[in-house]
Parts: sequence; C-alpha cells; structure tokens
Amino acid sequence: MNMEHPQGRLVVVSNRLPVVLEQNAHHGWRAKPGSGGLVTALLPVLRDRGGMWIGWPGTSVEDPDGIKTALDSASKDAGYTLHSVPLNKEEVHKFYQGFSNEIIWPLFHDLQSHCSFDPSYWRTYIEVNRRYAETVARHSREHDFVWVHDYHLIHVASELRQLNVHTQLAFFLHIPFPSLDIFTKLPWRFQLLRALLEYDLVGFQTLRDRRNFIQCARTLLDDVTVQGKGQVVTMHAGGRTLRLGSFPISIDYNAFMKHAASPEIAALASDLRTRLPNRQLILGVDRLDYTKGIPERLEAFRNALLRYPDLLERVRLVQVVVPSREDIPQYSELKTRIERLVGEINGQFTRPSGWVPIHYVFRSLTRSELLAYYRAAEIALVTPLKDGMNLVAKEFCACSIEEESVLILSEFAGAAAQLQNGALLVNPYDRDGVADAIYTAFGLPPAARRTRMRRLRRTIREHDIFWWVDSFLRAAIAKDLSAFPLPPDYVPQDSFTETVS
Ligand code: UDP
Repeated sequence: MNMEHPQGRLVVVSNRLPVVLEQNAHHGWRAKPGSGGLVTALLPVLRDRGGMWIGWPGTSVEDPDGIKTALDSASKDAGYTLHSVPLNKEEVHKFYQGFSNEIIWPLFHDLQSHCSFDPSYWRTYIEVNRRYAETVARHSREHDFVWVHDYHLIHVASELRQLNVHTQLAFFLHIPFPSLDIFTKLPWRFQLLRALLEYDLVGFQTLRDRRNFIQCARTLLDDVTVQGKGQVVTMHAGGRTLRLGSFPISIDYNAFMKHAASPEIAALASDLRTRLPNRQLILGVDRLDYTKGIPERLEAFRNALLRYPDLLERVRLVQVVVPSREDIPQYSELKTRIERLVGEINGQFTRPSGWVPIHYVFRSLTRSELLAYYRAAEIALVTPLKDGMNLVAKEFCACSIEEESVLILSEFAGAAAQLQNGALLVNPYDRDGVADAIYTAFGLPPAARRTRMRRLRRTIREHDIFWWVDSFLRAAIAKDLSAFPLPPDYVPQDSFTETVS
C-alpha cells in the first residue's frame, strides 16, 4: 500500500454504479461489473485498502431486494461493496436529465442558450444529493476517505456536513468549470459555490478550470485567499480551508497500447486500410452531444474539400456517433442535423468512381472495432466546442502503434493543455482554420508525424490513469504542497497563436 495516500477505506460516490444491471425473466437481476477507465484505476486502490462504491444502479424500476441481491453478488467478485441509491422516474427526470444535463452540463460547457433553468430541477437536485449523502453516512466510518465524482453530486458534501459527517471529503469535477461571466448566469450560483467549499480537496481537469473557480469565488464571496502556485494550492474561503488542484484525467495507456498492438487489431486495421487504397482515413468518434462540435466539424470538412481539391478521392472521413441522451429533445434534433449534413456533403462530392467522402456510423462500437479504427486512421479530428478532457484524443494516440498519425485537437478540449506540443491545435468554430489543419495533416511527411506522435504518446504514458488517481490521493494528505509543481513543459492554455490563412 502506498503510505502517502489517505488511510482508511475509500468510499467512491458517483451518479452511476460501475455495473450494468440486466433483468432476466427467469433469474431476476444480474449485475455485470463495468469496464471504464475510472473503474480500472480505482479497483486496485479499493481492493488494497477496502472500500465501497455508492451510486444509482441505472434503473428506476423499484425492486430494492432484487437489485441488492444482484449488487451483493457482483461485489463479491469486484473486491469492494456496492450500495445503491434508488431513484424514481421523476427524480431521474428532474435530477439527472433536468438539473444535471439541462442546466449544469450546457452551462459549464459555455452553452447557456441550451439551459432550461426550471426551479423544480434545483429542488430535486438537492433532495437527491441528500439521499446520496444519507447513503454515504449510513455506510462510512470516521476515518474513511470519501471521493465524490462529478457535476451531478456537487451538493453531497454540504449535506454530509449537515448530517455531522466530518471525515475527509474530496470532489473531482470531470467537466470544465466555466468563466465568471457564464457561471454568474446560474440562479443557484452562491449555493453551488458554497457547496464546493465544504470539500477538503476539489480537483479540476485543467489549471484554467481551477482559475475560473478561484475567480468566481473571489468575486462572489468575501475574504477569499489563495496560497501557492503549483498543481495544488490552498484556498481560505467562507471560514473553511481547502485544497484545489488540477488533475488531468487519463487512460490506461498500456492496456490500450497492448490491445492495439495485438494480432487481432492489426488484422482488423489492415482490413480497414486495404479497403481504402491510396486514401487517408480521417476519424471522428464522439458521443451524440452538442458540445462535441460534430456539425461544425462536418462543415469544416466540406470547406476543406471545396478549398483543397487535392483531397478529393484522397481522404475519407469516418464519423462515429455513439447514441446518447436521445430522450432530451436537443439531442434528437442534433442527430437529425448531423444526418442531413452528412447526406448533403456526400450528395455534393460523391464521385462515379465510388468514392463517398463521409462514412457515417451511428451506434456503439465494440472495443475491437474502436481500436481498429484508432490504429488504422491517419488523422483524428477531435474538435469539441468545449470538453472537460476528451479521452478519445488520448486513446487514439495510445493506439497509434506505427506512430505515423496526426491528431487535430480543439484548443477548447481540456486535453489541449497537455497535448499542444504534438497536436495540431484548432479553433473548432473556425471553418477555414480546421480545413487548413486537415490539409496540413494530410501533407505532413512521416518523419514530422513521428516526432509529434512520439511526444504525444510520451506525455500520455507518463500521465496515465494510475498517475491521476495517485496524484489526487497524495494531494489530499501531502504535508508540503511544493511536491506538486507545475509540469516542466507547461504552457498556459490560453496563450493563443494567430493563424494566418
Ligand atoms: N467509446 C465507447 N464506445 C464507442 C466509442 C467510444 O465506449 O463506440 C468510449 C471511448 O473509448 C472513450 C469514451 O467513449 O473512452 C468517450 O470519452 P470522452 O472523454 O472522449 O467523451 P465523453 O463521452 O466522456 O464526453
């Protein structure tokens, strides 16, 4: 066990439990352990020191006994216990779809016009956060370390303090924290800010997110002071002292790299390549979400085909869109918009030779399919309008086994702070700029590609998901914060360079 980590058990709290529940007509519920990056990273820590995971099991069907039996049986294999927070249909609607995904999600991604500030959403958000807090209070002990994840659960610490829980509480925000001008639009801005101060450690993806938070606190609250300059600083505010850090989340680099290098993926990737002779494969992989900038990317691709005729018949864009949140009207409208654009662009450029510029996939890929696309693609177009981190960018680099591919990355993705030294950075709203980057990537010689890709892969390898967990846990207890300097190659994320077209 790493003695520099907090002692006691680890209590992870997230909106969803890391399992997939399935109902079977004959045998009741069955829970299959999840396989995401967060679970992979936390599992060794949970196994090592003991712990539990608290969250919603993902169904609003009321069958507490059946679900408990399924979770107990899944936790026997998982190495930690699972405790569910049941939510009924109305709570799912107002807490999850409503406050979380129609208020905080769009606002924190700078898209205030997508917000629906319904006051009943806020009330349900508080009630549900209290329920999570009660579950934590019921199952945790004094010296446990409670780690709450993401924007659905900002209020949990406040509720826990009211329940007289004084154990160490930490929070990690997986999405961006907006600038002052945007944050102050939130009708519950004071409550949410004060709720964050109840934690002992708050982690952000980037230094820019942390700086935004500090600026909001300084403007909206009295007597805020901040000490330190490194990756982790101390803040005094509202009578509390807490730590604030920037911890860019990452992937299990070695697992991605090894799987992508396997004969199975090599064969699948080479199959994809032989279907595209003399053509470069440009890849986009995104969840269906307006923050991902998919229509803007398609427009930029159209612009590239118009302005650079060399690209005709020499590239193909494979755009994978993974279904998500389709019960929110804006998401189904987005799907229609994307499909119309794909149809228009293909109609405009398809050639009698059989060349079709965009290959559109609307479904979830299997892990092998995804890795084969990552390995086969020459260029990845990762152009979100705003993104907490963007793991697709990191996974693509980890799977670039030949190291001859190019990453085009939005400067508004959190990943840009770490990857700007090897990626071609673009403003996703700038159709000419993105088109230029596509053309530059297309013509980049192999040696230049390798230099860039090696730099990217080194950064991701050295700062993988295990580094992320370790640095977060160490930051919670370190006596001396000078052990957390800024990375030596750190460049402030908001030093923009002018592109001259
Ligand atoms: N992904 C997936 N199924 C797919 C395509 C992608 O599960 O068919 C995964 C991908 O491997 C990545 C995640 O979805 O880990 C997307 O993470 P990202 O940070 O890029 O965006 P998010 O969807 O979390 O906003």
